[in-house]
Amino acid sequence: MIPSTPLIVANWKMGVSVTDARPWVHQFVGSTTPAHRKHVIICPSFAAVSIVRSANRSLLLGAQNCSAFDEPAHTGSTSAIDLKMLGCQYVLIGHSERRRWLGETDAVVHAKMIQAAATGLIPILCIGEDQSQRKTGKTKAVLGQQLRRALLPIPSKLSSLIVAYEPVWAIGSSVPADAATITQTHRWIMTILGRMPLRTPLLLYGGAVDTSALKEICSLPHVDGVLVGRASWSAEKFSHLVSIL
Ligand code: PEP
Repeated sequence: MIPSTPLIVANWKMGVSVTDARPWVHQFVGSTTPAHRKHVIICPSFAAVSIVRSANRSLLLGAQNCSAFDEPAHTGSTSAIDLKMLGCQYVLIGHSERRRWLGETDAVVHAKMIQAAATGLIPILCIGEDQSQRKTGKTKAVLGQQLRRALLPIPSKLSSLIVAYEPVWAIGSSVPADAATITQTHRWIMTILGRMPLRTPLLLYGGAVDTSALKEICSLPHVDGVLVGRASWSAEKFSHLVSIL
């Protein structure tokens, strides 16, 4: 199911523990309306997926990663099919922290796209340039390559797609990209995606989004919502952010 836009995806990373997951859900559900929650996808750690699911079955649930494989001999990995069986409908693929710290290549990202699509999970494909790539004018080349290598050839069972533009220099910082940068980059990404044989994807912005930036970013052209990291870790803060919509 594609949620209502603007879409807010909460990437918990390792920021909400298994101990805190259930109280987080109860506080969030107690402080937001069902209408607001239709805009929200929660991406807990693997360990917390079932806890979130059992705390409230109506929340839209995503995973932060899936295996690039479907054969059993991949110790420590979690298959797309298991995520689906646990109640996930979405999966983040290609987050910059995985590319950067875990050596996740474009080829691995493509293999994960195939697994997600074959299983019926909707991929949230993360792309973004780092500071030095932006400074040296390589942003378009980097994003174009990430998109083409992740998506082509288009996985045969891909029914829907969400793309998140997350400039690496904004993630974890105190300031999101400015409106002009987001608008220009999103327009260009939509042009590239428009040349591919795809149903029009949703396009999110991610990187240092909090309550002060949310409204303006969501009102920009070609922005269908946001991917939120740190500002989703406190249920109180995140409920406030969602209620601003
Ligand atoms: C992220 O890591 O996807 C992200 C958007 O992080 P933050 O909001 O904390 O910058």
